[in-house]
Amino acid sequence: GIRFEGVVKRFGDNVVLRELDFSVAPGERVTLIGPSGSGKTTILRLLMTLEKVDDGVIWVNGRPLSHMKRGLRLVPADEKYLHRVRNDIGMVFQQFNLFPNMSVLRNVTEAPVHVLKLSRDEANERARELLDLVGLADKADAHPAQLSGGQQQRVAIARALAMQPKILLLDEVTSALDPELVAGVLDVLRNIANETDITMLCVTHEMGFARDVSDRVLMFDKGQIVEEGSPEKIFSEPENQRTQDFLHAVL
Ligand code: ATP
Repeated sequence: GIRFEGVVKRFGDNVVLRELDFSVAPGERVTLIGPSGSGKTTILRLLMTLEKVDDGVIWVNGRPLSHMKRGLRLVPADEKYLHRVRNDIGMVFQQFNLFPNMSVLRNVTEAPVHVLKLSRDEANERARELLDLVGLADKADAHPAQLSGGQQQRVAIARALAMQPKILLLDEVTSALDPELVAGVLDVLRNIANETDITMLCVTHEMGFARDVSDRVLMFDKGQIVEEGSPEKIFSEPENQRTQDFLHAVL
């Protein structure tokens, strides 16, 4: 699971997260919604240790991102420790960032072979199962440039899952896609939500998807959670004025 405890993040004078507290239980699916600039992407970047907190603590599967144990003492986290914590987390971005000069199969197997030290055969076998899961079993030998944006994003999802993460972070994974390709990617994610027990934290503007897969929706504004609840509650009877205004604007 994930826990944010009093997390503060600033960029210069801009306070992006204000003493933020929330947690995501193992296996839970949580969606972050809210206006542009409310801090949603920053939360995912902090979890990937692409940014550092200014105050507070982030816990990932019981381990803090800022400090590690050395004997009985707590010392600042080093790169090796962060690497281990990060290995529990898979992330899919708006831009797919596939390796353009490698086949689809190779894109999915590179990290498992080099980081998890799987044998090439074992990695290939797992990759083919994952490509099947995302509906691309017949594209294993294609190169990214031969695929549509939606297919490339499905490869990126398979690549993230190939590292066997316990937590999957999804950052507006359909925003860069042509409208007709969005549904296919969302179907794949619904499928993963149904067939695995992976913890999911999603930032999305796809409210239908958020309603389908989320156990809980957190509405952000100005770096704070202004309302949270089941998708039924948030989308059907939001109590907070800012949630109501936001949903009117996007739905
Ligand atoms: P969107 O829906 O547009 O992606 P968001 O809710 O994900 O918005 P963030 O991307 O987390 O919002 O940004 C929150 C605030 O932090 C914004 O005001 C943004 O300008 C600022 N910000 C984000 N990253 C940086 C950075 N590296 N340097 C300076 N300011 C930043």
